[in-house]
Amino acid sequence: MLTIATIAEMKDAARAEKSAGRTIGFVPTMGYLHEGHLSLVRASKAATDSTVVSIFVNPAQFGPQEDYARYPRDFERDSAFLIGEGADILFFPEAAEMYPPDFRTFVEVERLQDKLCGRTRPGHFRGVCTVVLKLFEIIRPEKAYFGQKDAQQALILKKMAADFNLDVELDVRPIVREPDGLAMSSRNQYLSPGDRRAAVVLNRSLEAAAAAIRGGERRPDVVIGLIRGLLGREPAARIEYVEIVEARLLEAAPDAGPGRLIALAVYFGNTRLIDNLIIPAEG
Ligand code: AMP
Repeated sequence: MLTIATIAEMKDAARAEKSAGRTIGFVPTMGYLHEGHLSLVRASKAATDSTVVSIFVNPAQFGPQEDYARYPRDFERDSAFLIGEGADILFFPEAAEMYPPDFRTFVEVERLQDKLCGRTRPGHFRGVCTVVLKLFEIIRPEKAYFGQKDAQQALILKKMAADFNLDVELDVRPIVREPDGLAMSSRNQYLSPGDRRAAVVLNRSLEAAAAAIRGGERRPDVVIGLIRGLLGREPAARIEYVEIVEARLLEAAPDAGPGRLIALAVYFGNTRLIDNLIIPAEG
């Protein structure tokens, strides 16, 4: 695996792949890799000739009170995981390489960026879109891989790619979970042992909602009430939002029918976790 830190070298390496007739699959990450990230690497390996993974803790997507400085970082461990998966190139730029002091240009996806997580994280999706567009321009992948774990992010990036006519196909892959159902996240390691045990309530409450919907319940307020009730029984959980939205514009859904997105954000101590479920088609 080749590790590259500069934009110029990354562009050269990507051009070399293309001139050799090789397609590029790209997996953007913030590192501290887990099975969720590695599932994206495997999907890329299976569908493209050359897999580029980026590790970049993107300062532009963190608010001033958020965890940029303490976000977990472990280059050696991540690098070993990626070699194990057979990734071809690791792009690992410094913040100053991506954002020189005179950097001025940002990408916003209007309306979508203000929903769900955007309400309490103003500027977050602007930071995500900006860095992902930059990375797409540097790497020029045919395919790029994202996790359904960050459902709003995936939707916003798809909109950006469509609106800017980008020549990249976005592939959104299923949420990878711990054996007890907690969605894998680099932030799970912030949790105290008690909060880690409590956090299974996220997936459990989504599963209870899915069961109620399978049983015929379609009223969004009732399903949301059910989820809030279960979360509320867990003293460690502090709800930020529980919403059922239609999965295109992220507006409140009139029913809890197939294709709707149930999304939630919940704090355990200072750690903010998200999870979601797309209501499956009937039968
Ligand atoms: P991050 O490093 O958290 O920015 O995540 C990088 C990519 O991995 C994003 O596309 C995430 O949606 C995806 N990802 C993170 N956690 C999971 C998970 N548990 N299952 C699937 N994909 C994930």
